Amino acid sequence: MRPPFRDLRSWLAYLAETDRLYAARPGVSLKYELAAFSKRTETKRALIFPQPGGHAIPVVSNLLADSKWMADALGVPQSQLLARFQEAARNPLASVEVKSAPAQDVLHRKVDLAAMLPIPTHNALDSGAYITAGLMIARNPETGVQNISIHRCQVSGPDRLGVLLLPRHTMAYTHIAERKGVALEVAIVIGVDPATLLSSQAIAPLDFDELGIAGALHGMPVEVVKCVSNEVRVPAGAEIVIEGTIAPHEREPEGPFGEFPQYYGPRIDSHVMRVTAISHRKRPIFHTIVGGSMEHLILGEIPREATLLAHLQRNFPEVKDVYLPRGGVCRYHLVVQIEKRHEGQAKNIIMGAFGGHYDLKQVVVVDTDVNIHDPDEVQWAIATRFQADRDLIVVSGAQGSKLDPTARDGVSAKMGLDATKPLGVDPFVFTRISVPGQDEVDLSSLRKVEDAASVLA
Ligand code: MN
Repeated sequence: MRPPFRDLRSWLAYLAETDRLYAARPGVSLKYELAAFSKRTETKRALIFPQPGGHAIPVVSNLLADSKWMADALGVPQSQLLARFQEAARNPLASVEVKSAPAQDVLHRKVDLAAMLPIPTHNALDSGAYITAGLMIARNPETGVQNISIHRCQVSGPDRLGVLLLPRHTMAYTHIAERKGVALEVAIVIGVDPATLLSSQAIAPLDFDELGIAGALHGMPVEVVKCVSNEVRVPAGAEIVIEGTIAPHEREPEGPFGEFPQYYGPRIDSHVMRVTAISHRKRPIFHTIVGGSMEHLILGEIPREATLLAHLQRNFPEVKDVYLPRGGVCRYHLVVQIEKRHEGQAKNIIMGAFGGHYDLKQVVVVDTDVNIHDPDEVQWAIATRFQADRDLIVVSGAQGSKLDPTARDGVSAKMGLDATKPLGVDPFVFTRISVPGQDEVDLSSLRKVEDAASVLA
C-alpha cells in the first residue's frame, strides 16, 4: 500500500504508473466532446485533455472510476475504506497556515472566467459551461469556521457564477451574512487530491471544518494559505483558486443542469458569486466532473455509506456492511448485510435506515452469505428469500429527495424488503448449491483446442 496522495499531481502520476491515465488528442472541444470521452471511459480510465478548445490549461476527468480507486488514493484496502473515513471524521487534524503557496504563483485581479479557464459544457440540456469539481470554501462571518462543499457553478458572466446552494451549511452561512448585511466570503478550489475531494462530501455537523478530515486522511495537516482578496483559507497545493463573494439577497437564473439521478435539475433562481480574483499554479490543471457520471456518484456514495453504517451499527451490532448500488444512483437504494439473530430484526433495521438519510427510498436487507456489491446476488436473495406479503414494508408520504422526478415536491414513499433467510427452518432448505473444488482447480492446465477432431480421436 502506498501512503495517501496529498495533491492532484502525485495522484495523476500514480494513475499513469498503474496504466489508468490516458491522454486525448490535443484540442478536444470543451462543449460536449470532452464529456463524451469521459463518459465512455468513466469506469476504466482517467483522462487528460491537452489544449481543450484551444485553451492552454489542460483538463482532467474521471479521477475516481470506482471506490477501489478511492481506497488506492487513501492508501487502504478497499474493505477498510468506510472504516478509515469514519475514523478520520471522528479524529480530524486541523489545517496549518503557511505564508506562500504554489496555488498563488500566478495572480489575476482582472478576471474573465471563460477566457482564463477551460470550463466544459457536459450534458445536452445544460444551460452552458459549469465548474463542477470546485470545492467551495465559505467562512462563517461570525465564527470564522470554514465549510467545504461542492456546488454546481454556472458561468453567468466574465466575473459571475450562478451557484446552486442546497439547504445545508453554505446556505446557513449565507443566512448569517444576509442578517448582518454583508457579503459572504468564499473561494472555489479546483484541482486537489481525492482525499480532499472526499472530505468535502462528509455528512458533518454545522461549523465542522471538513478540511480536518482531509488532514486526518493524509496523516498530516493540510497546509492552507489566505486568499489575496478575502479572509478565506484555501489548500496551498491546489491548482486553481477562484476568490469572491456571495452577495446578500441576490439571485439569478441558473440551470438546467444534468444531475446524479440521470435527469436535469431545472432552471431556478440561484445564488450569485462575484469573482474578485483568480490565482493558480504555474501551468495549472483544471479538473471537471461530468454531471451524473461515475465520479459524481461515488463522491457522494462513500461518505453516505460510512455515515449510514455508523448510524445503523449504533443500534444494530448485527449490521456488517452497507452498499449504495449504482442502479439506485448511489443515493436512493441501500443494501444492508446482517448477521441475523432474531426474527423481525431486518424490519427494525429497515426503519432505522430510513431514519439515517431522507434520500433513501428502498432498503434491502440480506444475510452475510450474499455479496452486497453484486446486484445479481442481491436480486437472487430477493428472488429466493423474500415474500411480498410477509417481508415488505411500505411507508407513504415521507420526506424524500427533491431530485427524484416521481417525488411530489420531495414527498416520497419508502419501501423495505427483508430478504433474509428465516431462522429455525431446516438448514438444508437454504443450503446454496456448490461444486466441490470449484475454487481450487488449476485453470492454467486447460489448453486451447485448435482442431476438435484431434482431441476426440
Ligand atoms: Mn459542512
